[in-house]
Amino acid sequence: MPKLNEHYQDLKESYLFAEIAHRVAAYTQAHPDQKVIRLGIGDVTLPLGSLALAGLHEGVDAMASPDTFKGYGPEQGYAFLRDAISAYYARSGVSVDAGDIFISDGAKSDTGNIAELFDADNVILIPDPVYPVYVDSNVMSGKKVTYISGNAENAFLPMPDPAVHADIIYLCSPNNPTGAVYNREQLQEWVNYALANDAVILFDSAYEAFITDPDLPRSIYAIEGAKRCAIEFCSLSKTAGFTGTRCGYTVVPKELVFTASNGVQMSLHAMWNRRQSTKFNGTSYIVQSGAAAVFTEDGMKQCRANIQYYQENARIIADTLTRKNIRFFGGVHSPYIWFECPNGMESWAFFDELLTRAQVVGTPGAGFGENGKHYFRLTSFGNHENTLEAMKRFEKLF
Ligand SMILES: *Cc1c(COP(=O)(O)O)cnc(C)c1O
Repeated sequence: MPKLNEHYQDLKESYLFAEIAHRVAAYTQAHPDQKVIRLGIGDVTLPLGSLALAGLHEGVDAMASPDTFKGYGPEQGYAFLRDAISAYYARSGVSVDAGDIFISDGAKSDTGNIAELFDADNVILIPDPVYPVYVDSNVMSGKKVTYISGNAENAFLPMPDPAVHADIIYLCSPNNPTGAVYNREQLQEWVNYALANDAVILFDSAYEAFITDPDLPRSIYAIEGAKRCAIEFCSLSKTAGFTGTRCGYTVVPKELVFTASNGVQMSLHAMWNRRQSTKFNGTSYIVQSGAAAVFTEDGMKQCRANIQYYQENARIIADTLTRKNIRFFGGVHSPYIWFECPNGMESWAFFDELLTRAQVVGTPGAGFGENGKHYFRLTSFGNHENTLEAMKRFEKLF
């Protein structure tokens, strides 16, 4: 009989989106004539830009002829895409070596798989609330995590405690689910703390393209010293609508070298390279061809137009909450609006209230951690008409 990885027993039931679907299905069955508006999912809805599509088509056409056909590609990704991403960083004033960039099928795999590089005997800090992948991927490999509290007092931006040592720190900015964004000074404090502790920051920047204020850092590498302590995860999912097309990238600087227990110097870059070369055969050439088009200036212009569409929805939601005097976070440099449930309600009770009385679906904050228990997430990934209608109903109700 196989001995199983029993750490899987330690995972909390991942019932958030299944439970939402279940409650919505039960409601719509009982009320088939009601129009339910979904502002719950963290998935984009606008189609790909024409340049990304042209890039994808070029990739497909290359497969048709023996001179241009592509078989296995480099596990790290094609140089044309790594160069395009390096140039994209450079346009926002951040220098990232193309050789430090690893192309993947998305940030979820990489933020989950990175845990393999680290021993169980580490102090691992993970914000609460946050994207559930970080906690679950550590629990699966039997690692203990320490939560750092995001709350209204710190505007859902937990800061380091110099009195407490850490080895690994997960940060997500702009944050899912709270929409909160670290500024330069705050990220500098985290980088200084990591350097002082010889720690590694795992920085999830999946929403960087939603940042519109040029003073806010879109990359951890905009911060002095970050290449000596940080790995960055990015994705085309929210930036370019690639949630179904699948492409992400992870930056592992060659500067990240630590001393092993036997005194050997180990490079995280070399380890990740080995891990990927062993377990991953690369992102499809076709997708990388589409992705390269995204990172051209015109390709990014098309992405920005879609992001602006979502941001207009976020503004509609934020304006409604402001008028109703409901405290909220995010909604500016993020597709997410995170607010306190009215009347001290818990998030699942509020979910039911919003569904049955306004026919609007959101996401209960409890699904993202203990600190989300009294909070609720709405997303701006719907269309204008539905978002306006949902907010009209919301305004009447609360
Ligand atoms: C959506 C999202 C990602 C992107 O995941 P992909 O696998 O690239 O689609 C990464 N991190 C966070 C926090 C997200 O919300």
